[in-house]
Amino acid sequence: MIEFLFLDLDDTILDFHKAEHIALSKTLRAYGLEPTEAVLSRYSQINKSYWERLERKELTRPQILVGRFESLFDEYGITVAPAAVARSYEENLSVGHYFLPGALEAVQSLSKKYKLYLTSNGTARVQAGRLKSADISKYFIKIFVSEEIGADKPDKRYFDRCAMQIPGFDPQKTMIVGDSLTSDIQGGINAGLHTCWINADHKENTTAISPEYELEALSQLEAFLETL
Ligand SMILES: [Mg+2]
Repeated sequence: MIEFLFLDLDDTILDFHKAEHIALSKTLRAYGLEPTEAVLSRYSQINKSYWERLERKELTRPQILVGRFESLFDEYGITVAPAAVARSYEENLSVGHYFLPGALEAVQSLSKKYKLYLTSNGTARVQAGRLKSADISKYFIKIFVSEEIGADKPDKRYFDRCAMQIPGFDPQKTMIVGDSLTSDIQGGINAGLHTCWINADHKENTTAISPEYELEALSQLEAFLETL
């Protein structure tokens, strides 16, 4: 019987892809790089590879936040101060939020039956801004943003530090729900939790990471939990 739910924020509750697209376009344009499809898709690749390097502990968070812009602008031969670009992007990103279809209703309804905790690998300042704008903190008993916890998913230390702050915590009664195999699902496995992969686009799982359950959207979770 599941009692505790660890919900991921980006691309599980909020449409990070859309927020990122809007904030990024604004930022790149301000620094002289026209945000064409090609540029945005290149940024996505660079960004993803940087976050994977964080998950593998090859880079620190500040190195990612700045380094991804340094790499991108370098490739296009534009000289900028990457730290200033990173700051501008964070500011643009912290002002908007876009719910995935049915996600707000799902969080509201789940919060009446389960103990909800938000588990996000984001930057504290950005996530605080987005959570305020989305007004969903009230549905969670606690918000665990990795920058404040001092470890990132999938590191077991992240989960141990969350667990210490949860009265009566039992990994057997806990499920982590998120869109990332490498951070959410691998993290859940490391911490001995039940795992549910949100796979909206029906992506093929080419990794060795096996989620226990798979759903298309958070909006399906409540009905699914009733069947367990
Ligand atoms: Mg996510």
